[in-house]
Amino acid sequence: MPGEDAGAALDAAKTFEADGIASMFTRLGENVTNADEAKAVADHYLGLLDTIAERGLDAEISVKPTQLGYDVDPAETLAHLQRLAERAAASGKTVWVDMEGSPYVEGTVAMYERLRAGHPNTGLCLQAYLRRTAGDLQRLLPLDPSIRLVKGAYAEPAEIAYQSRHDVDANYVALAVSMLEAARAGRSVAIGLGTHDVRLVEQVAEHAGALGLDKRAFEVEMLYGIRMGEQRRLAREGFRVRDLIAYGEAWYPWYMRRLAERPANVLFALRQLLP
Ligand SMILES: Cc1cc2nc3c(=O)[nH]c(=O)nc-3n(C[C@H](O)[C@H](O)[C@H](O)COP(=O)(O)OP(=O)(O)OC[C@H]3O[C@@H](n4cnc5c(N)ncnc54)[C@H](O)[C@@H]3O)c2cc1C
Repeated sequence: MPGEDAGAALDAAKTFEADGIASMFTRLGENVTNADEAKAVADHYLGLLDTIAERGLDAEISVKPTQLGYDVDPAETLAHLQRLAERAAASGKTVWVDMEGSPYVEGTVAMYERLRAGHPNTGLCLQAYLRRTAGDLQRLLPLDPSIRLVKGAYAEPAEIAYQSRHDVDANYVALAVSMLEAARAGRSVAIGLGTHDVRLVEQVAEHAGALGLDKRAFEVEMLYGIRMGEQRRLAREGFRVRDLIAYGEAWYPWYMRRLAERPANVLFALRQLLP
């Protein structure tokens, strides 16, 4: 994280542009408990979209449904997303919807179907560890969606989620190839690969090449501060790269998920505290 406020995130985005890396902002926080908090989050993102436009940044936003009040009133969450999409459309930007834990997946996919119907400048994250995702993708492809494919960050049981790295990675590549094939067949699907697993990115790039598509057929999306050397190398090699910059005070649950993914992050974080 570059800092706790949006200003630091905006400044970080500016420095990445020099390396040809675009940005995506997310304000940390989830599961608000009343409508006022949800509206405050939506208003914050509306202001951020204005600042992105004023500064002419190649930056987008990515938001969590529960942070926009999904637990309180899903209809209001959709209304917030629609307002954000309208504001973003004025400057040609996309609003991304994060995918949260499995109890939210069906509702979030259904909400995205409604959002996308009126707002083509919106995208959804899908998780390769979930067994249902291949079906969700087939359901969404006719909408010409924008999809960010990730492995998945929550602890999910074996009945609904692949558990081994091998199975998750295999499903990741299969899902990415399905999207490439749809693009090859003329569908207007915008593909984001939200992963630090450069080996998978290279595998997907090979499949794209075999289909006659180039490496700009998809975007590579990684977190701020992780594998920056690889992010710069991929950008230099002609891949489209976008850096997800998280900021805000609610860093604790976010950091705990990053830690669960990779205990080595403790050392990584401690190293940042050294002079
Ligand atoms: C842009 C973006 C958006 C995301 N949005 C969502 C979302 O909406 N919903 C959701 O469930 N998940 C989301 N995630 C998280 C994702 O699901 C994974 O949990 C996370 O990206 C780790 O998996 P990986 O694909 O990087 O592969 P891994 O197999 O975990 O990692 C591959 C390699 O990358 C390196 N690496 C990975 N993570 C780290 C790290 N934290 N620190 C240092 N090195 C690391 C390691 O060398 C590792 O071997 C998002 C991730 C990104 C990058």
